[in-house]
Amino acid sequence: MTPDSLFEKISRTTDETEFYTPMPAGYRKGRTRYVVVCGTVISGLGKGIFSSSLAKLLKDKGLKVAPIKMEGYLNIDSGTLNPYRHGEVFVLDDGMETDMDLGTYERMLDQDVGAANFTTNGQILSSVLKKEREGGYLGRDVQVIPHVVGEVKLKLRELAVKSEADVVFIEIGGTVGDYENMFYLEACRQLAFEEGENSVCFVALTYVVEPQILGEQKSKAAQLGIKRLMEVGIQPHIIACRAGHPVNDKVRQKIAMYTNVPMKRVLSMHDLDSIYLVPDALRDAGIDREVLTVLDLHDRVDQPNEDREREKWRGFVGRIGKCNKDVTIAVTGKYTSLRDAYASIIKACEHAGVLMGVNVNLRWLDTPNVDANNVAQRLRDVHGVIVPGGFGVRGTEGKIDCIRHCRTQGVPFLGICLGFQMAVIEFARNVVGLKQANSTEFDPKCVEPVIDILPEQKMIEGLGGNMRLGGKDVEIRPGTLAAKLFGEATLTRLRFRHRYEVDPKYVSRLEEHGLIFSGKHPTQPIMQVLELDTGTHPFFVGTQAHPEMTSRPLKGQPFFLGLVKAAVDYAAKRLPTTSSSGSASVRPNATAR
Ligand code: GLN
Repeated sequence: MTPDSLFEKISRTTDETEFYTPMPAGYRKGRTRYVVVCGTVISGLGKGIFSSSLAKLLKDKGLKVAPIKMEGYLNIDSGTLNPYRHGEVFVLDDGMETDMDLGTYERMLDQDVGAANFTTNGQILSSVLKKEREGGYLGRDVQVIPHVVGEVKLKLRELAVKSEADVVFIEIGGTVGDYENMFYLEACRQLAFEEGENSVCFVALTYVVEPQILGEQKSKAAQLGIKRLMEVGIQPHIIACRAGHPVNDKVRQKIAMYTNVPMKRVLSMHDLDSIYLVPDALRDAGIDREVLTVLDLHDRVDQPNEDREREKWRGFVGRIGKCNKDVTIAVTGKYTSLRDAYASIIKACEHAGVLMGVNVNLRWLDTPNVDANNVAQRLRDVHGVIVPGGFGVRGTEGKIDCIRHCRTQGVPFLGICLGFQMAVIEFARNVVGLKQANSTEFDPKCVEPVIDILPEQKMIEGLGGNMRLGGKDVEIRPGTLAAKLFGEATLTRLRFRHRYEVDPKYVSRLEEHGLIFSGKHPTQPIMQVLELDTGTHPFFVGTQAHPEMTSRPLKGQPFFLGLVKAAVDYAAKRLPTTSSSGSASVRPNATAR
């Protein structure tokens, strides 16, 4: 049977075949090609960074790209995952709560993604079980092969139809050999067979070890890792070797020889100073062109587009590490032991810093140790403070002390989500005089619940007690600092993930005392941005949203740009500026996820 006749036969679900390949309506075979990226040897190699960088190179060439991250866990989404274990929960515009890698795709591609770009074992198995209950399998016993695998292929082809992409980038979570991603690999193997020659490009990320005791790079672990992939019937087309240092030719040769992959398709992907240098490194290694060759896509390239996009990107990366000013911004956070929990904030600060020519050092501050007596000392040499999002009461009183210090001492401040709510509580307590102001999240019986879950809003949102999630419009009040930051726009869109909000019945009292709600929901009484008059404070801004999630390398997020600029001005007034010890530059290492 030729792949074509097989394709015809299996695209109809009948009981005369052992195959199960449901096709979404409107699917055109050959229109969309696929790049499958999987990891071998160890996890945490930066598959998302690699895959998004490669996707960016193809997008720059004028091709339409759509990424999908396939997670091995059984959770339906990332909403319930502990950021300690899994990094931050990244919220998409359509409200899907995903893995932080989706943030990497949005930033690298400067492209919003949605629920169709993310799946988990939980999602796949749920739809199979739902179909089974609905009698969708024509009396067949439902099996991992063909049904679960068929569901994975359906999901991939649905994304191809929906996105109309030239290339779908499939990132398979975990490492080859993990039980939980085996059916993803089998699905991709079948996909390649069904779609035929030049349709699917398999890329294996591997790891070249360099044991200190030997002082040289060894290829065996990488060879064995790739062999594991070949055992499941997948011959990689391209091998990317992660390593601390550039991978030498001898090692590349060995890997090439033992995996049947030509040398020019075995590339060194060693650590770089910034993940934003990865696209150019891949391009210099010629990997973008190799992918086009494997997928027979050279004729879809728009060269002038690539030249333009490359120029813009180079303008950004050319400034990385060349900043001549330093500011230190404190981030008060509960997850200070795991920086992945704040990945988007780190990125947003990096973007703002690079775009403004400032090296932004972040100082992590765990607030349970902060109180009214030591706050001035703890924030002594910082030029700005971010109070980020979070859940639960731990450290909240220390955050309030930090906010009070910023408000009274003119230190630039940005409150994000929980940080916005804390700023409202601080203002209510210390300016309005509502000493018992609090959030019902921390004190369900509190006397002055300035932050609360509001029954009428529960009805409006129709979400019950659940979170308010995803992109929402924000109406900006003209003449405010927010309006200035957003270039006098009266409407913007930000990402949200919260359950509590400002109780509207306190709004007028807060405003009478000088708190300005400069961003609101266009039709509902939901306060989304607050600020103090710039006549009284240089930069005091809070937002119920997560602005860090919409910052992009070439388009810094206005609140972060504003904070960094205010921090520079603040530092200039307190010469000489020193970047203090204990701070970490936000310039990330390419090994970071
Ligand atoms: N815990 C707060 C709420 O649920 C803030 C959430 C957040 O910071 N993401 O509203």
